[in-house]
Amino acid sequence: MLDLIIVGGGPGGVAAGIYAARKKIKTLLIAESFGGQSLVSADIQNWIGTKSISGLGLAQNLEEHLRTQPDIEILDGNLVSGVQKTDGAFKVQTKNGKSFETKTILVCSGSFRRRLGVPGEDRLDGKGVVWCSTCDAPLFGGKIVAVVGAGNAGLEAVRDSLAYATKVYLLNRTDKIRGDAVTLEEIKKNPKVEVIYWAETKEILGDQFVSGLKYLDKQTNQEKELKADGVFIEIGSVPNVEFLGDLVQKSQFNEIIVDHKTQKTSQEGIWAAGDVTDQVYRQNNISAGDAVKAVLNLYDYLGKNNK
Ligand SMILES: Cc1cc2nc3c(=O)[nH]c(=O)nc-3n(C[C@H](O)[C@H](O)[C@H](O)COP(=O)(O)OP(=O)(O)OC[C@H]3O[C@@H](n4cnc5c(N)ncnc54)[C@H](O)[C@@H]3O)c2cc1C
Repeated sequence: MLDLIIVGGGPGGVAAGIYAARKKIKTLLIAESFGGQSLVSADIQNWIGTKSISGLGLAQNLEEHLRTQPDIEILDGNLVSGVQKTDGAFKVQTKNGKSFETKTILVCSGSFRRRLGVPGEDRLDGKGVVWCSTCDAPLFGGKIVAVVGAGNAGLEAVRDSLAYATKVYLLNRTDKIRGDAVTLEEIKKNPKVEVIYWAETKEILGDQFVSGLKYLDKQTNQEKELKADGVFIEIGSVPNVEFLGDLVQKSQFNEIIVDHKTQKTSQEGIWAAGDVTDQVYRQNNISAGDAVKAVLNLYDYLGKNNK
């Protein structure tokens, strides 16, 4: 019987693993791979304490730091495929047929960004096609940016870009903007912003780097092009939660609902942290911090319950 199973090898999972090992909690960390979503990033400039590091470099550092801990078991190259509640504990299964029993679980399985699925998106990924405005808006100083998607994340991307770009387009598929009305009004007042309604993105243009975007004007049925040096795609993210079934409560966006003081889920014995949860801001440092909070809280829980 394990004390804890951590699911995920991103910044959340690894931070949790290091803290759990140092608390001598009997832990197994199961991860498909290390590094998490920013693995593909060419340059991460806001990982605190490190001025600049590639996604791959960050992944290597995370894995190395975790593996230097003597008191943790690691099962990588594996996916958790199911969790069942047993009498006062949980049974965790992996895709390749392994099964473990544990008193507690910390879910740090993150999410993945929804993609447009249009030509140019994959080819120009990281070459002007970007996914994180908090991280990458500073790359577009004096340049033109297009933001695809006008939910709250899209509006935030516009706001982030306005500090750097000379012009920011916001493309929305209908005439109804899902994002917060107050933020929308605020950004619309800025003369650098142009909101394009009824715009369905058809292609991201560019040879070596993004040079523009082609969209269908759904009102006139005409294809149009605009010039842009960067395209932020903000059409939602999908949390990795299938393996939990109905064990924990989730939001309308399928994020795990947690108590933000403790990271506890609705299911006693299960905690969650990072991008898989209903927290608002998606960042490496935040996932790591939330995961540490979860470990400290479940350490108290294990102690108090003499588990
Ligand atoms: C392209 C890009 C660039 C970014 N750049 C930055 C940046 O510069 N700075 C910044 O702060 N943030 C950046 N972000 C955001 C940041 O990457 C995320 O906020 C962060 O990775 C979330 O960490 P996490 O540990 O919660 O989840 P994730 O990073 O999503 O990690 C989840 C982990 O769980 C594993 N996993 C998933 N399902 C299972 C399962 N069933 N079983 C076992 N393991 C599983 C995954 O393989 C992965 O290891 C970027 C995001 C993207 C997409």
